Amino acid sequence: MNSAERCSGRCKVCVRWVSRMAASRRSGTRSPDEQPRATTQDSEGGGLFQDLRRRPARRGVRRPGPWLLAVLVFTAYMLVVRTIGAQNAQRLTFRQAIGTVFPSEAIAPVDRFLAQCPTAAEIASVDEIVSLDFRSDPTAASGAQACRRSDGSGDLTPFQKRVYNAIRLTREIEFDEPLPWTSKPLYEWFADAADSIVFRDEISLSFCCSPNGVINLRTRNLAIGETDRFIDPNLDDGIASFMLLLLHETRHGEGYRHTCGTNADLRLTERGAWGVQYSLDLWMADHTDPAYFAAPDTDYRGFFRQDARRIVQAYFCLQPTPSA
Ligand SMILES: [Zn+2]
Repeated sequence: MNSAERCSGRCKVCVRWVSRMAASRRSGTRSPDEQPRATTQDSEGGGLFQDLRRRPARRGVRRPGPWLLAVLVFTAYMLVVRTIGAQNAQRLTFRQAIGTVFPSEAIAPVDRFLAQCPTAAEIASVDEIVSLDFRSDPTAASGAQACRRSDGSGDLTPFQKRVYNAIRLTREIEFDEPLPWTSKPLYEWFADAADSIVFRDEISLSFCCSPNGVINLRTRNLAIGETDRFIDPNLDDGIASFMLLLLHETRHGEGYRHTCGTNADLRLTERGAWGVQYSLDLWMADHTDPAYFAAPDTDYRGFFRQDARRIVQAYFCLQPTPSA
């Protein structure tokens, strides 16, 4: 159906418009509505090349053939690769990280890492070292899906994505000194020590290890039910404290029970669950790359110093000396 048929008998304005279009076609001019768009955006993947196809060839000037065009594009890409490196060039040109919601560039690098969905291979590598049983998931009821298998990740709720990312982060963080309780890098220690994690909402506290070796994590009131941020300034909480909780319980999984009452340790030097959490606080605060944790709205490293002070004040029956 042409424009005239669509418009026939509808209105005078429409008929006038069709007449004007027909006249402009005869005269070889374009109406304002027909002018090619200046933008290179497109919804069909044509973009710049679609615009090139639309334009009439100039007399005496040959359009570049497909081979010449391919050579030009390849040369330009290689120039970008040489200038900024292959990985960055790939990000800029062809591939967007899977399932990524890119926050502002002003946000901390750790938050950019946490905003990304783990790839299917990364999910598989976490599943290989620890069994995750999401019996409770505070984000499941909303039906929201944070990551998708069809995008190269897995079908994950926001909560599941944050759990996988917290574990991935233990491999991402680099310390400039060995950890005080193990000779292994953090991720390797976790991989060897953790076996199985169950997420539950009906328990009053997180604990380990019942059944044998199983870490039980209480999902109620966990900040990772609400935020992707390492520390969300609105909550003063985030994936950082989940990571601390996870590694505290992992230490219990290695056989370190609390040695003073039901929830405290006698000494820091035992390097029990509180000792590990305290040491990790200090290492996060003082032995990591400050730029990686430089958030414009929150003092990430200060968060760990504060947690270390809280632990010293409340969870060692014999106070550690400052050098301990
Ligand atoms: Zn404990």
